[in-house]
Amino acid sequence: MSSPRPDRNPISLVAKLAAQVQFLQSAAKVSQLPRPSVPEIAIAGRSNAGKSTALNVICDRRRMAFASKTPGRTRLINLFSLVWHEQELGRLVDLPGYGYAAVDASTLRAWQQQLSRYLAGRQNLAGLILVTDIRHALGPLDRQMLSWFGQRQRPVHLLLTKADKLNRAEQQHCLAKAQKALEAAAPAWGQPVSVSLFSGLKRTGREAVLDQIGLWLGLDSPGQKKTGSTAAGDNAFVKAPAQGGEAGDMTSVV
Ligand code: GDP
Repeated sequence: MSSPRPDRNPISLVAKLAAQVQFLQSAAKVSQLPRPSVPEIAIAGRSNAGKSTALNVICDRRRMAFASKTPGRTRLINLFSLVWHEQELGRLVDLPGYGYAAVDASTLRAWQQQLSRYLAGRQNLAGLILVTDIRHALGPLDRQMLSWFGQRQRPVHLLLTKADKLNRAEQQHCLAKAQKALEAAAPAWGQPVSVSLFSGLKRTGREAVLDQIGLWLGLDSPGQKKTGSTAAGDNAFVKAPAQGGEAGDMTSVV
């Protein structure tokens, strides 16, 4: 008999799943990945953006469990299983940090090839969380990642991390700027993009990310879908025209 699916409170249940996340496997190449048997959520970001810190906070890890600082795992695709009653419901996939300066050109090309292959081709990829420093959001490397993912018609969540480096007004300014840039680019990407503020240092902004993970993995319950509010808040959902919304149409997910 199959185990009951967690379906009551999407945030606390997905938080629970995230807190119990289990290392599954590392892969140097897309061809070494496990079977695409459950939905995967990829987490990407340029080196030093704060991706490992964000993953540790999202999964409520106190000590570095995630990837980019774990010896031997820095250049690999690292997969973590979200497990409920011994049943794998989804995976978090920590992609190698891109834009790392201290590697030679051919190594860089090989990474880029694997990243683009994963993003453009992995059939069970449910969504992408793109971690970006709030002060340098949507730089050329971020846009490159989005363009690899762009034809998939799958959602992206832009996580503006290191928000603690800015005051409240500056945070709101950067949030609005990122939303505007995403709206402008939405027709080309053709995918829904949401944005939220995050601080690994202060451990804030975790719920919005967990909320997205829950939605993408289908762990939300219909009565608790969080759309329809007009307040932009710290998190916003930018509908891509391909999904039926008008460019510029924003709905809070708070
Ligand atoms: P990664 O290379 O993207 O995995 O980046 P890390 O998570 O290792 O973070 C890079 C640096 O930024 C480290 O020195 C972290 O302590 C720092 N850092 C990460 N997140 C935050 C944050 O939210 N606020 C601040 N102030 N520093 C952060």
